[in-house]
Amino acid sequence: MTKLTELQTYVAQHQLDAAYISDPMTINYLTGFYSDPVERVLALLVFPDHAPFIFAPALEVEAIKETGWSDPVYGYLDHEDPFALIAQHVKESVTSPLHWGIEAGSLTVDRLHSLQQVFPDGQFTTNLTPVIEQMRMIKSPDEIAKLNEAGKWADFALKVGFEAVQVGKSEQEVAAELEFALKQHGVNQMSFDTLIQAGAHAAEPHGATSATKIENNELVLFDLGTVNEGYISDVSRTIAVGQLNDRQKEIYRVCLEAQLTAQDAAKPGITAAELDAAARKIIDHAGYGEYFIHRLGHGMGSSEHEFPSIMEGNDLVLEPGMCFSIEPGIYIPGFAGVRIEDCVHITEEGCEPFTHTSKELQTFPK
Ligand code: MN
Repeated sequence: MTKLTELQTYVAQHQLDAAYISDPMTINYLTGFYSDPVERVLALLVFPDHAPFIFAPALEVEAIKETGWSDPVYGYLDHEDPFALIAQHVKESVTSPLHWGIEAGSLTVDRLHSLQQVFPDGQFTTNLTPVIEQMRMIKSPDEIAKLNEAGKWADFALKVGFEAVQVGKSEQEVAAELEFALKQHGVNQMSFDTLIQAGAHAAEPHGATSATKIENNELVLFDLGTVNEGYISDVSRTIAVGQLNDRQKEIYRVCLEAQLTAQDAAKPGITAAELDAAARKIIDHAGYGEYFIHRLGHGMGSSEHEFPSIMEGNDLVLEPGMCFSIEPGIYIPGFAGVRIEDCVHITEEGCEPFTHTSKELQTFPK
């Protein structure tokens, strides 16, 4: 069963007359077509027993057909009223749809009002966001293969980045060098802005790559990922430049132990909360618990933040096909930050990472 058929079955079983799918990531997931339409309207309409259709800006229609989409696709021009046209096309399949499924997690209030205007009797109360999140959580072998390929390029990027590290060079320069190398190999898109943080700057886990220059005797944190056929990678490593003192070495060692312990413990049957605790306990016991200020990991796949969330309070039992990051960190303000991260997928016996760069403490330049 294709993902789209699966959603169609859900729509039928829940007595919905139509579903309005509007999140570009969901449309990509269900149809294989991705485009961010910005302010224009892009939607996938799904019905219990009629063919679905895509409604798109006219300039996207050819690209949609090229993906192999064989059901109807209707384009609209900028001066036309998209919702009047959607209503017209919907009524070709269902004369008066009452019960609608929508993605409440992403549909704007404004667009909901437009739908209500063209379908005044419609009830837009069924939220499909959790249904789609649930579908997306278990990855197929084909999706795993795409994630592995994205991971391979993240490993390549780290290698180039580590080799570019030099005292006096800025974080931004190192980021530019590794992204340039990726582009030379045809890898054009990063999963998110490449993060390189040197020394005390790495203690701000949500900071950005800056003009900060790399100095001797400090830790440098890398967090990056690449996109492959709509699937992403996400990896973090922290390396040494020059000679580290005992405290720098200690936070690295503790973070690594937490990461390896969690990666070892990740298998079917354990809960997300238990996995978070497995890593957190190690950091707590070493006395750095107050410096581990985020969850252990996030789900990933076609985006870098999906489900499952690996955190306290989430009693979800892990199952084969779930993909998420394992990324403990220790951030000591004014001193240093360490994060070590692999994204993995749960297998029958345990888990497999998408990235394979060594996690032993490495020093650069060599
Ligand atoms: Mn991550």
